[in-house]
Amino acid sequence: MTEQVKELKKLTDASDNIVFFGGAGVSTESGIPDFRSEDGLYHQQYDYPPEQILSHSFFMANPKEFYRFYHAKMICPEARPNAAHRKLAEWEKEGRLRAVITQNIDNLHQMAGSKNVLELHGSTHRNYCMSCGETYTWQYVAHSEGVPRCEHCGGLVRPDVVLYEEALDMDVMERAVDYISKADILIVGGTSLAVYPAAGLIRYYRGDKLVLINKSTTSYDRQARLCIAEPIGEVLGQL
Ligand code: ZN
Repeated sequence: MTEQVKELKKLTDASDNIVFFGGAGVSTESGIPDFRSEDGLYHQQYDYPPEQILSHSFFMANPKEFYRFYHAKMICPEARPNAAHRKLAEWEKEGRLRAVITQNIDNLHQMAGSKNVLELHGSTHRNYCMSCGETYTWQYVAHSEGVPRCEHCGGLVRPDVVLYEEALDMDVMERAVDYISKADILIVGGTSLAVYPAAGLIRYYRGDKLVLINKSTTSYDRQARLCIAEPIGEVLGQL
């Protein structure tokens, strides 16, 4: 265990008010590709840039092409929680972690046992008919040929994820701000904190125990008590 990881253990062992804020890097160790990394989705060959396909206007105009991409790249049924997801769930169970705030849409925190998960960008595990509101599982969407349609009214079924051009859920944002502003320790993991507005959330933290765990440097490194430049699953797995 490195000195930094020892220090993190000391901090977390002594706290009952840890809040975790995570990005794509938390899921990459479970085999889910990072949207924005060098070898991530945005650099793969496709008919349109992924950023365009995953936008509201593209979805409405061309749901068939959206779902061709979505079925191939966004649904990862074989992905399983890694050591980071498991440790966070354990901390919550022990009464030491108050909330997981995530930018990921893959349900892995819940799969690991976390209960209080704030999903800033929604979840591929929730889907609904845009006409009548009927809800559908991810399996229903995954197994549909082409564009998933509502069994009741034939309406377009969409994932409950925040597409480009769409607003974040203000209720989720406000709850995230509340947890962060009251946190004793804020651990930020698997994100370079480059994506707004979600990244701006950590400005609400008032404590002096900001911990950054990310493979590359971030613009908040100087404000942090601890910066650990290692994969987050490996770090949390040691605690
Ligand atoms: Zn319907």
